[in-house]
Amino acid sequence: MFRKILIANRGEIAVRVIRACKELSIQSVAVYSEADRDALHAQLADEAVCIGAPPSAESYLNIPHILMAAQITGAEAVHPGYGYLSERASFAEACAAQGIKFIGPTPDAIRKMGDKSLARAIAHQAGAPVLPGTEHALQSEDEAIAAAREIGFPLLIKAAAGGGGRGIRRVMSEDDLLPALRIAQSEAQAAFGSPEVYLEKYIPEPRHIEVQILADEHGKVLHLHERECSIQNPRHQKMIEEAPAPNLRPETRRALGDAAVKVAQAVGYQNAGTIEFLVDADENFYFIEMNTRLQVEHPVTEAITGIDIVQWQIRIAAGEPLPFEQSDIRVNGHAIEARLTAEIPEQDFTPSTGRISEWTPPGGPGVRVDSHLYTGYSIPPYYDPLLAKIIVHAPTRETAVARLARALHETRIAGVQTCRDFLLRIAHTDEFRAGAVSTPFVPRLLRGGVAGGAR
Ligand code: ADP
Ligand code: ADP
Ligand code: MG
Repeated sequence: MFRKILIANRGEIAVRVIRACKELSIQSVAVYSEADRDALHAQLADEAVCIGAPPSAESYLNIPHILMAAQITGAEAVHPGYGYLSERASFAEACAAQGIKFIGPTPDAIRKMGDKSLARAIAHQAGAPVLPGTEHALQSEDEAIAAAREIGFPLLIKAAAGGGGRGIRRVMSEDDLLPALRIAQSEAQAAFGSPEVYLEKYIPEPRHIEVQILADEHGKVLHLHERECSIQNPRHQKMIEEAPAPNLRPETRRALGDAAVKVAQAVGYQNAGTIEFLVDADENFYFIEMNTRLQVEHPVTEAITGIDIVQWQIRIAAGEPLPFEQSDIRVNGHAIEARLTAEIPEQDFTPSTGRISEWTPPGGPGVRVDSHLYTGYSIPPYYDPLLAKIIVHAPTRETAVARLARALHETRIAGVQTCRDFLLRIAHTDEFRAGAVSTPFVPRLLRGGVAGGAR
């Protein structure tokens, strides 16, 4: 096992990884930017190293500084968390070149799945259904027109290197295709450093259901069942996730798990990863992408399986084989996570910053809070708006929904505007309570077209 791990991230996920290190008796090294001197992750770690100026490009994305911090402190491994450098194959390679273990998949798997059009081709070949679309980045406008005619409208133009809900553009008719394509390419270049885009058929009211994978470095690939993530803001960012997915036929659940394992095996996957699918009303499902990292919503899976995913990421990277089999991974109860963000949903999710004058998180039976907040903490304006993840676990979905509403109600936060009241509104809608939600739900709720929801 490693003696010391550096965490190349900030916020709640850095805190989450530090907690795993402590429970495994591993020394932890935090890195922090000049804006994060008072951040909780820098306080909780055994050591903390300042790696640069507030903008992420100069600190949390600064590979030479992060590797230097690892060298100075003698860290043997790096955990990248999610976002930032977690899906940068060149970072995984740079770690390896310095003799530092990257806690994640191989650079080859990151690279293959990081190109979302290539990932579609790999998934298709592995036997997973994909939506009609192009299985490589578009090479010319003529090709785009021909492919679009075959796929039909509406369709989506997606950035091959996209992520975080960005780089997706809907095209309603052929007249709009080429102008949209040009904009999408230049936006992709600006946002992701690559102009490559591909086409995918648009499904009007899909559910987003994803499967958690855990694979060791000895060829064993298991899945930890699925998560429903259909409650997304209009920018396709997840707001509430749950496990298992409600109202899904057992055959569909099994088929999703099998397809996810096959896709992971096809790239020789190691460590934790997530295969995302869209599911239509008839429960046909289609691969959309693989995230080759720890997912924000991993705690709901930890709750229902009893498996500590972050600890297993570390154990796997240290060479330990997975000691359980697929049939050992059972679902116990129901878990739901709500992402408390410093955003104002009614004002187009405008971010809010400020000094937290009160933070009293919820507690009691079946409540877990993953957060980097404390009373008196000032939220820097440079980073992600996530403040806390409120995770509840209960024997049934009905009791979990009641527990979520109770926990959100109990949450006291002042000094910054948050989406708490909006999350509560969702928790009280008939559709959410019935477990009958698809991805256009939140946009519809914002337009006032959802029953229930008043408190
Ligand atoms: P999850 O399914 O784990 O919620 P998200 O796609 O929401 O995954 O991404 C998690 C985090 O990583 C968010 O902070 C998001 O902004 C960031 N992220 C993911 N992919 C990218 C990307 N390609 N570029 C920038 N940020 C990204
Ligand atoms: P990202 O890499 O940004 O996470 P994804 O490809 O995973 O992008 O898609 C993010 C979200 O966008 C999905 O969860 C879904 O809500 C929506 N979406 C993506 N592809 C489609 C599609 N083909 N039809 C309808 N909605 C889609
Ligand atoms: Mg996605």
